[in-house]
Amino acid sequence: MKTASLGAACLALVAGLSGARAQTIYPLNRAEILAGARFDFKVEVPGVPAEADVAITINGRPAAEILGKPATFVAKEDGLDQSALWVRDAEIAKPGKYVVDVKAGGKAASVTWDVFATPEKRAAKNVILFIGDGMSVAHRTAARMLSKGISEGHYGGDLAIDDMPHMALVSTSGTDSIVTDSANSMSAYTTGHKSCVNALGVYCARNTSTLGHPRVETITSLVKRKLGLAVGVVTNTEIEDATPAGMVAQTRRRSDYNDIVKMFYDAEPEVIMGGGTPNFLPKTVAGSKRKDDDDYLAKFAAKGYAFAANDTDMKAAAADAKTTRLLGLFNPVNIDGALDRRVLKGGTVKRYQDQPDLTDMVKTALDVLSRKPEGFVLMVESGRIDKYSHSLDWERAVYDTIMLDNAVKLAKDWAASRNDTMIVVVADHAHPVSIIGTVDDDRPGTRLRDKIGTYADAGFPNYPAPDKDGYPATVDVSRRLAFTFGAYPDHCTSGKPFLNGEFEPVKAGPDGKTQVANEEYCGPTATRMQGNLPITAASGVHSADDVILTATGPGSDQFRGHMENTRVFRALVGALGLSAPH
Ligand SMILES: [Zn+2]
Repeated sequence: MKTASLGAACLALVAGLSGARAQTIYPLNRAEILAGARFDFKVEVPGVPAEADVAITINGRPAAEILGKPATFVAKEDGLDQSALWVRDAEIAKPGKYVVDVKAGGKAASVTWDVFATPEKRAAKNVILFIGDGMSVAHRTAARMLSKGISEGHYGGDLAIDDMPHMALVSTSGTDSIVTDSANSMSAYTTGHKSCVNALGVYCARNTSTLGHPRVETITSLVKRKLGLAVGVVTNTEIEDATPAGMVAQTRRRSDYNDIVKMFYDAEPEVIMGGGTPNFLPKTVAGSKRKDDDDYLAKFAAKGYAFAANDTDMKAAAADAKTTRLLGLFNPVNIDGALDRRVLKGGTVKRYQDQPDLTDMVKTALDVLSRKPEGFVLMVESGRIDKYSHSLDWERAVYDTIMLDNAVKLAKDWAASRNDTMIVVVADHAHPVSIIGTVDDDRPGTRLRDKIGTYADAGFPNYPAPDKDGYPATVDVSRRLAFTFGAYPDHCTSGKPFLNGEFEPVKAGPDGKTQVANEEYCGPTATRMQGNLPITAASGVHSADDVILTATGPGSDQFRGHMENTRVFRALVGALGLSAPH
């Protein structure tokens, strides 16, 4: 079968008709690879062929000539009836089209890569990437209504995230599914490669070890290695969570938190701030989630990092001009959202009374990172927009959208007089959310649906005028937004805000697998909603809808029209002129 046509082999692969799995080549077909960026090249073949019977060419030449080093043959990989050829840390310097052909065991496969270069000229000294995790159009609209007000159809003003000269529609699907999670979607922004659900900085190959999959280089590694830039990673979630981890991590499984802490340690971003302390503590310390004796607080300190456990520490560290490296861990889990910290005092606020706001974290990061003359890349995530949307708690999600907007405003003000900083604001994926009118307690009837006004009956909500930071003093008003979720498990709702803590729509059912409505919320005035998701779903889910990107500053004119999420990476490294000779 050595003469089998390439086209037929590819068709068999696509249709899943090949008995034994044919060859798979990583990076996958249509990969876009930054010239000079490192990646692992892997070819998987079934069985255990003789090494000499596996032929790999790239643009008709031996692969080693193009990749700079020979492949290593691994027979019976992971002890199974399968083999692989690897080139770890390959690099291609010259841009262009690269066709990889593999022939083994009578089968053939082929992929084509686009190796791209950036403009030679570096447009931006600094890049700030803001991620509103799960931030969808309805979150933005609701944030604008609550923080700017709306009457007779006119808003009282624009959000900082809206008031930017460049805008694009970004698609977020991954290699395995139309619907992505925060791991592979962030990975697309930070590596330029699409991957599969739960994966960070790797292609999803068949390796059994989560750390063994073919890796692609992160923007953190690239800008440090090529340009000597400082890097900041700032989030209000656990620092090991998917979005911040996407800046440094290479693992098939986003829940490898202890490994991800080590990846932060090895990558050495100058500023690391979020929650998630327990994975930094040796197992002997109460509350630790490590399985070893590694003390990462001590290890980071030994690398010259100042440590901050609260807002006061953080500001003191930033005020010290000698602080050029800062680790801030402000909560064992996620930092409480804006609605809890500022208004309701729920969540863990009483226990952790001195948690920083995202705006203060951004100001600190800018102070510390700008001490490095070469410039910086800073990633800032408002991560609980997503988490609160999973729990169908829209008020908390929208307050954290307003918080993101304030953080973006701060960065825009900081950058305004400099003209050397590109600021990008984007979500990593969407949630199926929409504003369909208002819920008005004064409408007649007893059921929630009696209280919902649509079209002319909706009118306008009556939230109080916001404070100077754009937050209304209460969400418990008589005419509220009817902010709806398109996908949900069984739950009960009263259409009222959750003043006593984040909504917990479900509990595990008696079998421990299926999810049932949390009866705590199923009082006489509540409406019982029959879920429209599989009964194992414990929360709302992401949607495949495109997300909005806005951008300003030098290099931001690269964002326009519709873009694949990998093209966001291309624009980030494009603004930095990353593949130019340095
Ligand atoms: Zn999510």
